[in-house]
Amino acid sequence: MTTNTENQPIAPAAPAPPAKKLPAYKQASRLTHPENSIVKVGSQSVGGTEFVVMAGPCSVEADPQMLGTAWDVKMAGAHIIRGGAFKPRSSPYSFQGLAEEGLKMLAKARELTGLGIVTEVMDSSDVDLVEAYADILQVGARNSQNFSLLKRLSKSRKPILLKRGLMNTVEELLCSAEYLLAGGNESVILCERGIRTFETSTRNTLDISSVLAIKERSHLPVIIDPSHASGKAHYVAPLSKAALAVGADGLMIEVHCAPELALCDGEESLVPETFRELMAELAELAPHFGRRISTIKNPDIKLADQGGQR
Ligand code: PEP
Ligand code: MN
Repeated sequence: MTTNTENQPIAPAAPAPPAKKLPAYKQASRLTHPENSIVKVGSQSVGGTEFVVMAGPCSVEADPQMLGTAWDVKMAGAHIIRGGAFKPRSSPYSFQGLAEEGLKMLAKARELTGLGIVTEVMDSSDVDLVEAYADILQVGARNSQNFSLLKRLSKSRKPILLKRGLMNTVEELLCSAEYLLAGGNESVILCERGIRTFETSTRNTLDISSVLAIKERSHLPVIIDPSHASGKAHYVAPLSKAALAVGADGLMIEVHCAPELALCDGEESLVPETFRELMAELAELAPHFGRRISTIKNPDIKLADQGGQR
């Protein structure tokens, strides 16, 4: 029997609890990194107290459209400008994006507004090009399990916005993120953008509880894209508020200066005026959920005066 210096018996130490088994997404798991990760994008931080809003058109179409919308969303309080130059379209006959010409327009939008830009890269062979312009490289839903693209992006020094695949579980999304982390890129932001279900009343089904499931399992920040989730502009504001309430770290929202003329996704795009009203409402609501939108100092629209929604 083990005794102490006074020859008193010492109770045997309690057996250590069995170590929790690490999931397949080891580095993305909260078990290996209990604190929330914060992803830096220029002067912005995604995953902290700031509720970060990325906004802009689905596709970069022309200088006046891109620059006008970029200015409008900046004035409304957006933190980051979005716009696609490489578009993943279901039909090969649909507008495919302006490629480098579009990236140059995005760079002008950054110069004009001082905001960072997020844009999609669809193919490993385009990573060098897109990386030269973008502040965040977006992996679209259709490429969420393109493992060779993820491996290439794991070697990028730019942050990655990884969208959830249309048919991917939370576990599969986290495994895709693991490809990025395992290859050395720790700056990963996840995005819930709706999944394909039997429901047809919306473009996709927003899995709002995935934010809770992700945050329970992972330290990575997660934002919601209510535009692609719903496919309907007038659903975007209520879903954005739900995103804030459920604990998402931000939003990605499509905004177009003339949605009826948009070359892609006009039906889900907000007009700048509606986006401005939404941002003011979010800024007012944010402190109730432990967040802030510091780009809006004095929200001038009160919740009672909600304007019409597009
Ligand atoms: C987009 O954000 O431009 C886009 C195509 O979204 P998703 O990949 O979620 O369909
Ligand atoms: Mn779109």
